Amino acid sequence: MKNANKKIKPEVLGLKEYALQPHRASIKINQNENPWDAPDRIKSETLKRIEARQWSRYPDFVAFDLHAKLARFADWTPDGMIAGNGSNELIQALLMVTIGPGKRVLICEPTFALYRQITTVLGGEIISAPVKKDFGFDAHAISDAMRMFNPVVTIICSPNNPTGQVIDAEALSSILRQTSGLVVIDEAYHEFADQSVVPCLRDHENLIVLRTFSKAMALAGLRVGYLLAAPDLTAEIKKAVLPYNLNAFSQAAAEVAIELYETDLKPLVKRIVAERERVFSELQNIAGLTPVRSRANFMIVHSVIKPQVVFEELLRRDILIRDVSSYPMLADYFRLSMGRPDENEKVLAGLREIFESAATASTN
Ligand code: PMP
Repeated sequence: MKNANKKIKPEVLGLKEYALQPHRASIKINQNENPWDAPDRIKSETLKRIEARQWSRYPDFVAFDLHAKLARFADWTPDGMIAGNGSNELIQALLMVTIGPGKRVLICEPTFALYRQITTVLGGEIISAPVKKDFGFDAHAISDAMRMFNPVVTIICSPNNPTGQVIDAEALSSILRQTSGLVVIDEAYHEFADQSVVPCLRDHENLIVLRTFSKAMALAGLRVGYLLAAPDLTAEIKKAVLPYNLNAFSQAAAEVAIELYETDLKPLVKRIVAERERVFSELQNIAGLTPVRSRANFMIVHSVIKPQVVFEELLRRDILIRDVSSYPMLADYFRLSMGRPDENEKVLAGLREIFESAATASTN
């Protein structure tokens, strides 16, 4: 090891960077993005507002206008709101003010890998409660882990990335009642499930909700996320957020996206949900594949051919999926984000070809 690296925390040295291989393909369904670009009206109105502002001036120290719009949009109070440079930044800020050596974070794996990554970097300890065999959340396993390990923070991703499962209201309220720790619900994909825990914020001061503009809102390139919680709690979390964390362009775009959500974005969400149901049925008809029902804009699929091979075969056909086989419980699974209907047709055709030729080869 180089001398300088001896100064790095040992738990960080043991980690791999959280990064994706820079593969490129015409059909990109590996990051759960919105397959449609942000609608033209959102782009042109944002550009108009940006053109009218002085670029030499800092953005608002706190994004007041955006917070006010987010509050109306999400039906929560503006002083219980933090907008961030993607929801990733807010996961980090939240963990920075709660986690350090000797502090535990409970997660339900398989789930979004960043929770484990940041907790480890901060010197905290991850406790992992397994999900059920069908990938549903296991309220008993969560309760047991809470009793045994007394986590400072519990993070539940609902709908969960990559399994697509949601936590039901009853399980969540029993979890919230049971712990004095903080409970984070990551709702990055809530629009596709048409279900949210935001109404529970009023009764639970230990609940935190995270959301993003990177999926249904079609603004992944601009990096906007937000956190909702009791104002006393957001006041503390804000202390770990950098000044001017959200640039003026992204603030303006997020405001426009909120204003035009019902007319310009919601119809796209509906089409994605319809595609999810259609692709699910089509995949059931391909021998060798078993899709898992999902409430998000993606689904995991069990495959009798190694997921790495399916990944390579689809990449040869100019299609980029996510191989999730290194996640716990998912050794035989890959993940597909929903593309546009024409893209999904090509994905299904590619998969039929791969699995039919494998079946023919095995009977020869
Ligand atoms: N939470 C989950 C569950 C995600 O899947 C992602 C993105 N893959 C994020 C948060 C991060 O979103 P953002 O782009 O807002 O940082």
